[in-house]
Amino acid sequence: MQFKTIIEPFRIKMVEPLRMTSARERVEILKKAHYNLFLIRARDILIDLLTDSGTGAMSARQWAKMIEGDESYAGCESYYELEEVVKDLTGMKHVFPTHQGRASERILFQILGGEGIIIPNNTHFDTTRANIEFTKAEALDLVIEEGKKPQSDHPFKGNMDLDKLEKLFKENEGKNNIPLCLLTITNNSGGGQPVSLENIKATSTLCKEYNIPFFLDACRFAENAYFIKLREKGQGNRSVKEICQEVFSFADGFTFSGKKDAIVNIGGLLVVNDDELAGKIQNIEILTEGYPTYGGLAGRDLAAMAQGLREVVEEDYLEYRIKSTAYLGKKLIEIGVPLLTPIGGHAVYIDAKSYLPHIPPEQFPAQALACELYLVGGIRSVEIGSLMFGKTENGKFIASPMELLRLAIPRRVYTQSHIDFVIEVFQRVHTQKDKIRGVKIVEEPPFLRHFSAKLALI
Ligand SMILES: *Cc1c(COP(=O)(O)O)cnc(C)c1O
Repeated sequence: MQFKTIIEPFRIKMVEPLRMTSARERVEILKKAHYNLFLIRARDILIDLLTDSGTGAMSARQWAKMIEGDESYAGCESYYELEEVVKDLTGMKHVFPTHQGRASERILFQILGGEGIIIPNNTHFDTTRANIEFTKAEALDLVIEEGKKPQSDHPFKGNMDLDKLEKLFKENEGKNNIPLCLLTITNNSGGGQPVSLENIKATSTLCKEYNIPFFLDACRFAENAYFIKLREKGQGNRSVKEICQEVFSFADGFTFSGKKDAIVNIGGLLVVNDDELAGKIQNIEILTEGYPTYGGLAGRDLAAMAQGLREVVEEDYLEYRIKSTAYLGKKLIEIGVPLLTPIGGHAVYIDAKSYLPHIPPEQFPAQALACELYLVGGIRSVEIGSLMFGKTENGKFIASPMELLRLAIPRRVYTQSHIDFVIEVFQRVHTQKDKIRGVKIVEEPPFLRHFSAKLALI
């Protein structure tokens, strides 16, 4: 039986009230926050689409695990429960919990990074890139060309460009300067686009040929597997869990943020097969995160993460997740809002440059749109454009290649009527979009300016 309505495959057991603000209040709040939505208190937001990281709603089972989880410095049962779930899903040998994804990255690249080292990926996520570059290594993006075209409808725009990867391997043969190759599933920085099973397998084969370990940045492994099931030939009848198991079988290790596809509010993983590498990880983990059977987390956090990993591969959940993100995207396209397509798993990306052609990149069109969405409907989104990636060199403004606005969807948090409300806000914004004003930077910090810069309307 097919119905049009997307039904959330859960009912609500505990609620967190949302506070309505008036349009007049929002004008004042935004002014006080210097037109930077990171500086607004969450209580003043109605629908928070800033990020899908650590913002998911845990299930009743996960909350039960928070009580059941045992607290021991060494060898707590919750660790062994997590280890068992991870081994069942991935077949890998050494499981290290960490406090979040970037801690896994820091440990891994502290060991394998350094000057002269190159780490290829489809597209590095910003914390991955930062952790690699911090060791003076180079973070290289080798996503296929279609992955860089906003309107290309290639079903797997996150795929690795295998020709470029092979060329890189050939050029560096015998130099021992590529300690691993990464592949990010789904490709977050490229619009949440999936990587095909075929491409994962081929990347792994190529790595083996050149004797280079193959790692996944597996933050959204379940969403990626669901896209494989939906879009890849011959995969439609397999279970998502089976697809996940096959995906992991090609890899030698992975980094993971539990704040994404383990649906917890804090936690991460670093998982590897190699015994020698595991020994080095253990030493740094003890030094900086904690003993390897808790890794900077409480036992209860480990138990909740184990349960989240069981739930995230449930297909009713994934169907609702992918369909509801696509629903928002389709409705925005109907209104006439240009999007990055196909619509990814965890977020909808708006091409603000073509939506607001009267605002040039140096006036941050995506940030201007983010402000408008807040003023009209109390919605928080995030600019991924020149405010985040642009810079000024010798007095000259250098724009980011794209001016995107991301609406990230927290897991299991908002209902269809919340999303319908967001759509209605867009309908209103659309009628007055030509009047939206650009913004300028008044004050900015030396690094990662988008988090704290002060802006003003032009
Ligand atoms: C979120 C994310 C990370 C970093 O994880 P944190 O838990 O935020 O530290 C790394 N890679 C990708 C693809 C991510 O989405």
